[in-house]
Amino acid sequence: MNRIAVLGATGSIGTSGLDVIAAHPHALQAAAVTTHRRWSELAQQAQKYRPRFAVISDETAKSQVDRQQFPAGTELLFGPEAIETVACHPEVDTVLCGIVGAAGLRSAWAAVECGKRIGLANKETLVVAGPLIMQRAAKTGAQLIPVDSEHSAIFQALQAGRRQDVRRVILTASGGPFRGWTKSQLANVTVAQALAHPTWNMGPKITIDSATMMNKALEIIEARWMFGLEPDQISVVVHPQSIIHSLVEFTDGSVIAQLSPPDMRLPIQYALTYPERWAGISPTLDWATAHQLEMFPPDLEAFPALQLGFEVARRGGSAGAVLNAANEAAVQRFLEGTLTFCDISRSCREVLSAHNFLTQPTLSELLRLDGWARQEIARWMA
Ligand code: NAD
Ligand code: MG
Repeated sequence: MNRIAVLGATGSIGTSGLDVIAAHPHALQAAAVTTHRRWSELAQQAQKYRPRFAVISDETAKSQVDRQQFPAGTELLFGPEAIETVACHPEVDTVLCGIVGAAGLRSAWAAVECGKRIGLANKETLVVAGPLIMQRAAKTGAQLIPVDSEHSAIFQALQAGRRQDVRRVILTASGGPFRGWTKSQLANVTVAQALAHPTWNMGPKITIDSATMMNKALEIIEARWMFGLEPDQISVVVHPQSIIHSLVEFTDGSVIAQLSPPDMRLPIQYALTYPERWAGISPTLDWATAHQLEMFPPDLEAFPALQLGFEVARRGGSAGAVLNAANEAAVQRFLEGTLTFCDISRSCREVLSAHNFLTQPTLSELLRLDGWARQEIARWMA
């Protein structure tokens, strides 16, 4: 039995993860579920999956929680530290990191420290602290398996050859709802338009990141650290159908790709079962119908966020933490209606260039810069 702590259980990744667990009741078990404040949904999940622990990380929600809605056998814990407690618990084998944003870093770090198997959906962890996380994982024996569909594809394609024979990886991007739009067309984008993703159904933050293409920027940085690639070994291609999830090119010119319909339950399940492959609940491609798989070069002028991703992957150090925090703050303002769409990448660039760059930051320096960058976004707006 693989006992899984589902961090961010009430989110898009979390609910998909629980679907995968439900499909394999004899092999997978939810040992813990966590939410920030959606305690009522968490209680329903606890009723269905009977985990040992349920965690509500927002302590201000504590007074509203009706404990009677949780099953008697589930221990209810509160506060952000409780997420770290369950991530390290001896009755947990695998940690599915499905929290959104830098808020997921500490629990991912805890799981690394405790040498767990980690299904990493929370890309921000590697964007903020990639080198530190990878170094610690190498020491503790923690096994980091990507859940992000592109990185899962690369992880799978890499198995076709030797690491020293990899020339480069090619990340695919759907292009989001504004693929083909010009810079001037993007000036008046509304929140509703940006939230309408053509191929993926995801949480609001990553959906906005996909519209600005900041998501791909974060994924370039994620790939750099997860696979130990040089920045110039990473390319991006726009692929509107979201069926080819990414590609690996080897030195002889062979390119290996991973294809499947856009459904996160496949990469989540693979992260839980690797190196095994199980029949699952994700849809499969229908080879009896015609498919069109298109590829276009990305438009770096209309989507300057992408350029930021390449720059930050090259710079390393504290640049990822600053870009990530600035983006989180800017996206939040955009969703609240106080920042325009194009100002997201504009403000991120300015905060990035204003920061005191550190080459080899510690975790606490990164967290301090995270707070600084969020304040800088507020200052930039004022
Ligand atoms: P979501 O908004 O749907 O869910 C986020 C979850 O995190 C919720 O359970 C929420 O309660 C919890 N959470 C939010 N703030 C928190 C905090 N401060 N402390 C603790 N918990 C908190 O997000 P999502 O779309 O599921 O994305 C989760 C992560 O997975 C992100 O890093 C995203 O980039 C990555 N990812 C998502 C998808 C997808 O299809 N949704 C695909 C690839 C990668
Ligand atoms: Mg992705």
